[in-house]
Amino acid sequence: MNQNQLFNRTRASLACSYAVVMGLILGLLGLGVYRAIAHAHLMALDNELESLAGTLHDSIELKLEQPGRIEPIVKDFFPNLCKNQVNCQLQLPKPQHHILSPITQGNYYIRFLDTSGSLLAVAGTVPEGLPQALNKREWQTLSDNKGISYHQITVLLHTQNGKDWGYFQMGRSFKEFEDYLGTVKLILKLGLPISLVLVGGASWWLSGFAMQPIYKSYRQIEQFTADAAHELRTPLAATQATVESALLMQQLDEKEAQDILATVQRQTQRLTQLVADLLLLTRMDKQTASIHRGYLDLNDIISDSVEEVAMLAMGAKVKLKSEIRVEQPLQIIGDEDQIYRLISNLIINGIQYTPDGGEVKVCLDCCDNYAIIQVQDTGIGIAPNEQKRIFDRFYRVSSDRSRSTGGSGLGLAIVQAIVSAHHGSIQVQSQLGKGSSFIVQLPLESKYKVEGTKLYTEENTIFPMGASIGNLWRL
Ligand code: ADP
Repeated sequence: MNQNQLFNRTRASLACSYAVVMGLILGLLGLGVYRAIAHAHLMALDNELESLAGTLHDSIELKLEQPGRIEPIVKDFFPNLCKNQVNCQLQLPKPQHHILSPITQGNYYIRFLDTSGSLLAVAGTVPEGLPQALNKREWQTLSDNKGISYHQITVLLHTQNGKDWGYFQMGRSFKEFEDYLGTVKLILKLGLPISLVLVGGASWWLSGFAMQPIYKSYRQIEQFTADAAHELRTPLAATQATVESALLMQQLDEKEAQDILATVQRQTQRLTQLVADLLLLTRMDKQTASIHRGYLDLNDIISDSVEEVAMLAMGAKVKLKSEIRVEQPLQIIGDEDQIYRLISNLIINGIQYTPDGGEVKVCLDCCDNYAIIQVQDTGIGIAPNEQKRIFDRFYRVSSDRSRSTGGSGLGLAIVQAIVSAHHGSIQVQSQLGKGSSFIVQLPLESKYKVEGTKLYTEENTIFPMGASIGNLWRL
């Protein structure tokens, strides 16, 4: 399976997992909403039924004189009251003409039963096929012969003198409610697949978005491996070609042998340097590079570094000078070898990318508890769009131009790794054809707090210390 397939498969399985989880959440949410709507509606209907039944019960009870006898005045409450199944051609009053019009609008029915459970009268819209037998439970759910459900409330009525009169039952059809729930169900049933399709699309997009950094990092590793292999192959190929041509020669005089060995040594050195740089970068990435932190005098390091590369500058016909703008020695806490490497990498770059007759200046200054090291040159400069990339591993502004310097494109990557290991920062200012300036800021020793065998940075990062040798620690 190639890498693209692997990424696509991972993305698809990630998207599927998202979609399944989201589908489950949406499904549960839909079910919850449905149950909540149904419950709220049912409660509202039951409350309405209960309050109507209560009002009617209280009003009627005041008028009842004899158990089981319906007083004529009760007819005023229920204009379509039908007693003993006589005269039951119910003439429903127009809703607006009666205070109890909701009862006559088709949703409610009322039944009066005596204490033995015999039906005395009915009112409202009495459904056919409801069970006739008296059930004294207060709340009941019944169905008529069309399968429509009703909620019914049963209350005991008393006469004016407190005797049991009989029962008053009031029921309400749930057809409207069931129709309404049916519509909600339909909306949810149709909405769920549509939402799932949308969730699927969103999951695909999201998983792509989530995989971007992994994909980018994978591409970087791939690029890094290819670049490293390429850089390693160059000196190896040169060595191989030199050795092969030497082997083809019948005889070698001493001078030729010396030249061949010098070439092999040069290429081996290049290879060794490249491997050492790669190892250093990898270890710094993993933060396993052992750093010997100690108090360092930057004034000395800069003077020494300038002295060390003076011959190189002379050979390149570049004027090299240093300018220490501080009166006191500037002390930092850091690894001596790495700080030397940082400064000499920048100076060597300045010399390499400055034509004959140019100048490279190294300045040391301080500001706000930071040492500022500036390496300025009057060289070829770097285009603005390249300035961000020159710190990338193996990146060279122009391969041809850089190759003539023998550079591998790791120098500035190492500089940046050293700067961050020392809690500093680096900036580049450059103009094509005019020169470049690399400005490094490193925290001065006063920015750290040393307590016993521990070293604290300003951000309170603690460096564990091993053995302390004078003012040098191996971390
Ligand atoms: P190299 O080993 O190729 O010099 P570096 O990482 O040190 O690699 O630099 C990366 C690229 O940045 C170089 O190829 C070069 O093009 C550019 N560069 C670095 N320093 C300078 C400078 N002082 N002036 C102009 N270009 C520079």
